[in-house]
Amino acid sequence: MMQVELKTHSSEETMTISQGLGKLLNGGEVLLLEGDLGAGKTTFTKGLAKGLDIKRNVNSPTFTIIKEYEGRLPLYHMDVYRLADSEEDLGFDDYFMGSGVTVVEWAHLIEDYLPEERLEIYIYHLGDDERKIVLTPRGARYEDICKELME
Ligand code: ADP
Ligand code: MG
Repeated sequence: MMQVELKTHSSEETMTISQGLGKLLNGGEVLLLEGDLGAGKTTFTKGLAKGLDIKRNVNSPTFTIIKEYEGRLPLYHMDVYRLADSEEDLGFDDYFMGSGVTVVEWAHLIEDYLPEERLEIYIYHLGDDERKIVLTPRGARYEDICKELME
């Protein structure tokens, strides 16, 4: 199993990495973000949005669950934290099967709805500004993206 591990020492450094990732996406990708509150999932998504040439400021969709942004590709940014006890299907398949990029914070809470092919991203809070980011590609397409990101 392929895995990419990176350490960052500022939110800017995290956003530089995710911006680079955003540039490699072609549409239809599903990225899952895991990590404690304040780990940097939304910060990571901000950088990703930059890489998709999204000009609007990306902020946490905790209360709306899904936010959509227009860029080089559409970005669907979900935070399903509030669905923890509800198991509600908000039409996830339409997003996952669509031609935009879908990012899901707290994705394990909707595990039953998630596609098997996806990029799993864990962010670990190591210190004040220090984070470990672990990328686990599930499927050849995501392995290629990780390889390109490391070049
Ligand atoms: P989450 O969405 O996981 O709850 P946020 O991205 O909203 O987390 O918050 C992360 C916080 O941690 C932000 O205030 C960000 O500026 C800060 N931070 C400090 N260092 C880093 C880093 N290396 N990577 C990402 N965020 C960082
Ligand atoms: Mg968040």
